[in-house]
Amino acid sequence: MTVQIDHALEEIRRFRPSPEFAAQAVADESLADAARADRLGFWADQARNLLQWEKPFTRTLDWTNPPFAKWFDDGELNVAVNCLDRHVAAGLGDRVAIHFEGEPGDSRDITYAELTAEVKRAANVLTDLGVGEGDRVAIYLPMIPEAIVSMLAVARIGAVHSVVFGGFSADSLASRIDDAEASLVITADGGYRKGRVFPLKPTVDEAIAKTGGSIENVLVVRRGENEVDWTEGRDHWWHETVGEASAEHEAKAFGAEHPLFILYTSGTTGKPKGILHTSGGYLTQTAFTHKNVFDLHPESDVYWCTADVGWVTGHSYVVYGPLANGATQVVYEGTPDTPHPGRWWEIIEKYKVSILYTAPTAIRSFMKLGRKIPQEFNLRSLRLLGSVGEPINPEAWIWYRHVIGGGSIPVVDTWWQTETGAIMISALPGITDLKPGSAQVPIPGISIDILSDDGTPVEGEGGGLLVVTEPWPSMLRGIWGDPERFKQTYWEKFGTEPTKAMYFAGDGARRDEDGDIWLLGRVDDVMNVSGHRLSTAEIESSLVAHPWTAEAAVVGASDETTGQAVVAFVILKASQAELVTDPAEASEELRRHVATQIGAIARPRQVFIVNELPKTRSGKIMRRLLRDLAEGREIGDTTTLADTSIMQVISAQVR
Ligand code: ATP
Ligand code: MG
Repeated sequence: MTVQIDHALEEIRRFRPSPEFAAQAVADESLADAARADRLGFWADQARNLLQWEKPFTRTLDWTNPPFAKWFDDGELNVAVNCLDRHVAAGLGDRVAIHFEGEPGDSRDITYAELTAEVKRAANVLTDLGVGEGDRVAIYLPMIPEAIVSMLAVARIGAVHSVVFGGFSADSLASRIDDAEASLVITADGGYRKGRVFPLKPTVDEAIAKTGGSIENVLVVRRGENEVDWTEGRDHWWHETVGEASAEHEAKAFGAEHPLFILYTSGTTGKPKGILHTSGGYLTQTAFTHKNVFDLHPESDVYWCTADVGWVTGHSYVVYGPLANGATQVVYEGTPDTPHPGRWWEIIEKYKVSILYTAPTAIRSFMKLGRKIPQEFNLRSLRLLGSVGEPINPEAWIWYRHVIGGGSIPVVDTWWQTETGAIMISALPGITDLKPGSAQVPIPGISIDILSDDGTPVEGEGGGLLVVTEPWPSMLRGIWGDPERFKQTYWEKFGTEPTKAMYFAGDGARRDEDGDIWLLGRVDDVMNVSGHRLSTAEIESSLVAHPWTAEAAVVGASDETTGQAVVAFVILKASQAELVTDPAEASEELRRHVATQIGAIARPRQVFIVNELPKTRSGKIMRRLLRDLAEGREIGDTTTLADTSIMQVISAQVR
């Protein structure tokens, strides 16, 4: 059987880049031409132009043992030097690297010279604590500058970081420490979230007690000033060690394939996987995409990516891409609505942010609150908007462009994964005609195809499986400690012969007549209604296009007559919630709306009006839990949910 995903939602809006934007754009057509003419030569040029190599490479790609790739592997570089020292050496030491904004309102500007000195001090302390090349360091910190300093200090000495999002429980932290056998944890006493100090150090103590005993030292940043227990000999204050250390540190160069970090996926579909990334290829593609997809002019732009460093977006587009490019960026510690719902817009006004990169979940929550809040702030400094993490519904795209972007600036929807390390599919601003809802085109040097189950290309508009057909510089190098799982999960979808090695991303997609790619949702979530495979993303977008809807999640639930039936969960906009007094009538109206917009086949069997949706800590909808609910099953594993009580709340609303 082949995968054919029915789609009928016609999205016909197109936005040409303005001539003014195009005239100043960083990216131009020559990039795609060069990549088409000589793909490996193109990446070799990017690696040489964007990075500083201590020993130049002579081999671009070694793919003799697929799926284990080596990029630039006889070259040597230091990742931290590329992000710091070389900018200082180039005379940019006084440029602000980080405008830090704490949740309570404290703020701090850190220049490239200051950041470099701090990383050198931290690197000296790590070495004193016995951390050496290849050793793993767990980082469990709030979104404060020390998180970035820690990552770079670990990279500088050739150790491997494993950042664990500060919202994770002791159990999640313990299992990640054990999986990587980390010898050091860097944490804080606590951080600020929703107007309060949330303790971190106690969670670390609890986690360490549950581990197999690999942790030798704990380095603690003072941030929350909350009371903490102290284990003499094991625990060390950051300000007493890093604060006192020498800012002299000579960095050694490491091979391009030297491991840089392990990071666990979000866990939207199941147990998180420890994804391994290495140095030279990863830094090449993050720097390239950060520069070209965000149209970065480092001398004048103020960039802000709202992701936490606990996610891959924070790794690639807060730490490595922006700092490799010498960008000036905002780092904000807290939540968007503390102490007031306009906090993000206030920050944009304060720092004159010109490039904003965020997730659809945030955009939809602002849509839910209404446009009045952002309209109270001056957002005219913005000149480019980005989105990542889930498909962005066309209606959310339009809202983002109009309400936040003032109606005329580019919005780029960037598709990628923890595994891909960097952006793979996106419009290039200034070149690509923008289409709301489509991630659009593979970036230059990336080979994407859409295949049916048997590995044949899906022609025309039918949907299929999204695959990457050629290795790419920032690709994952494995799952930590589990090469078999790495091969099975990603590379054996179309057979086990090495010649067929193609990367299967787990997402469904289709290509339109212009060659633009539309993400249809995760293959695990695809619904089969009377033999038609329907896309979750398209039905959700149709629901969000209704003026009442702020956010929607759609699942397929088993059904006696149709095999599966569409079941939708919808959050109404705050402004509509009062007007819609009869939920039964609202459901009926939304069912009718989908049937008219897409077709009778997509009409939901049920539409439940709810106040919340189950999400991972990174804000992605976890449809498998809604499927359990829709089928009346016991709710499955909820450990990666941001709020584990949410399924009880939703269950009660649905009854
Ligand atoms: P797990 O693999 O553990 O289930 P996850 O897939 O949510 O977790 P991430 O690597 O954080 O972990 O997310 C990558 C996924 O997010 C992609 O496979 C895709 O489903 C979705 N995604 C990211 N960006 C986009 C986008 N621009 N459009 C559509 N989907 C996107
Ligand atoms: Mg995934």
